Amino acid sequence: MELDYDKIGLKVGLEIHQQLNTGTKLFCDCKPALFKEEPEITFLRRLRPTQSELGQIDPAAFFEFQKGVKILYEADSKSSCLVEMDEEPPHTINLDAVKTVITAALMMNAKPVSEIHVMRKTVIDGSNTTGFQRTCAIALDGQIKVGEKIIPIQHASLEEDAARKTGEKEGNVIKYRIDRLGIPLIEVATGPVIKTPKEAEEVALTIGRILRATGKVIRGLGSIRQDVNISIPNGALIEIKGLQELELVSLVVEYEVQRQLKLIEIREELKKRNVKEEQIEERFLDVTTIFEKTTCKVIQKALEKKKQVLAAKLIKFKGLLSFELSPQLRLGTEMADRARFWGRVGGLFHTDELPAYGITEQEIEELRKEVGAEKDDAVVFVADTPENTQDALKAVFERARESLKGVPQETRAPNPDGTTKYMRPRPGAARMYPETDIPPLQITKDEIENIRSHLPELPEQKLDRLRKEYKLNEKLARQILNSEYSELFEVIVKESNVSPTIVAALMTETVKALQRDSVPVENITDNQLRDMFKFVSEGKLTKEALPDVVTWLCKNEDKTVREATEALGLRSISTGDLEKSIAQIVEKNRDLIKKRGDESFGALMGIVMSDMRGKVNAEIVSKILREKIKELASQE
Ligand SMILES: [Zn+2]
Repeated sequence: MELDYDKIGLKVGLEIHQQLNTGTKLFCDCKPALFKEEPEITFLRRLRPTQSELGQIDPAAFFEFQKGVKILYEADSKSSCLVEMDEEPPHTINLDAVKTVITAALMMNAKPVSEIHVMRKTVIDGSNTTGFQRTCAIALDGQIKVGEKIIPIQHASLEEDAARKTGEKEGNVIKYRIDRLGIPLIEVATGPVIKTPKEAEEVALTIGRILRATGKVIRGLGSIRQDVNISIPNGALIEIKGLQELELVSLVVEYEVQRQLKLIEIREELKKRNVKEEQIEERFLDVTTIFEKTTCKVIQKALEKKKQVLAAKLIKFKGLLSFELSPQLRLGTEMADRARFWGRVGGLFHTDELPAYGITEQEIEELRKEVGAEKDDAVVFVADTPENTQDALKAVFERARESLKGVPQETRAPNPDGTTKYMRPRPGAARMYPETDIPPLQITKDEIENIRSHLPELPEQKLDRLRKEYKLNEKLARQILNSEYSELFEVIVKESNVSPTIVAALMTETVKALQRDSVPVENITDNQLRDMFKFVSEGKLTKEALPDVVTWLCKNEDKTVREATEALGLRSISTGDLEKSIAQIVEKNRDLIKKRGDESFGALMGIVMSDMRGKVNAEIVSKILREKIKELASQE
């Protein structure tokens, strides 16, 4: 369904965060690297709610605080020190990171500030050990051109990345790894002027290209993250946080518009059904006895643990809970997300999707009778501890009341398929206050002019150069420009004699195809890629075998290209052996060659290549084979 976004009045703004590769972290000398092993150090802290600018306490943080949620931070000594642990004040700001942000900002025509002030921005989810994130505006008021349209850039800032969550909450403990904390991040925010999903994606890609052009960005999944702010009139401003793939932007915006339009439809339907807020009454009933002999596994398990089933009717909601908002997402799903978040239950049952899951028609009938549900009412229920079931149904009813108003204000998180899920309520404006441990930093006009006179080439210029210098076709040149490997591509082409088209195709199409097959391509290192192509140049490896080698290296980390070729049995045949094999094949096909002369070449080439299965270079085979055919012909 193609929507008329102009008519809908869609407005999108983007905030792009990209990790910078600057040797050390932003406020200490640790290496910006993530570790995979068991942590050397762990420490436990209690989550503390903080006040927003208006003195409001974030409801989600306060809720977690009340529940006694604690955070277990994990660290190793290579990637963190006392600064990340908040046991030591921050060191001076990484100047290389500052210069990189100024570079990107100038490429986006933004105006650098004359003095950089590091600020503290309160964070509420435990992702910073300090309870705040350090951030500083580096340049303001820029603009970029995307197609024919001018997109305003509100600011380019430099901030410290947060700790990374390593798993879901276990009991009352959330785990965070602080290796990522303090990695420099550039943040670029556009004005909310984007009008279509496609345009959102183009803007994201354009900004991504400019950031990569600085040559100072970290590569791989999670190194670029964006927040997408989406609003339509009569809907709400929804922030979708932490989208990692630029290619998903368009789909995420499309689905969010659909979701909001459908929620508005539900609001209108509820109006038609004349549902009033006060009718959505929180009358929760313990209906455990109905399910004592149930065949529903989830409920059985809960009852074995002495849990209960709590139910309530949602007046005149019948049919609305199964109403599809976007693919895989229904109003019932949104209610279940709330129940999981606030009630910490496994999920929510509702009559719109029943009978199913082993719950029978008869149980539903008894349930409807028990809660006094009429024909047009829906019934919702959860199975868990008394406290959790109460919290869960309260959250479900809150969500039900919100559907009378339309689209609730909330922060959502992206799913891999472009749909989104509830993350937490929209926080109030974050409180910002000066970081007193770091003095302001002057940026002189001379320093800025010096950076301005050495700006990297703009992406459009680079595209042009890639096509001319390496004779890449338009499509491949664009793919390389958009790829994380665009710098490495030129390095490899210069140091190997492999055709630029082959290098480019591997770095774009092959890598994408492997990614689709769930090969962890982010594991491959620059040096491994360089070695691979050196092997190809030296005839030690064929280009046909490259996808297999990449796959092997991604699955066997820290191994060499030589080890890969050995493990895969790809050690290519020496020219002497190759000549011998070809001679044998030629001999066997003597009659064919006699009859068809040069025309037999294609058929013989096929035989030799399938015989050698990727271990030989087609060009070399072709050369030897032609010689042999000629030899044989001249013997006659
Ligand atoms: Zn450190």
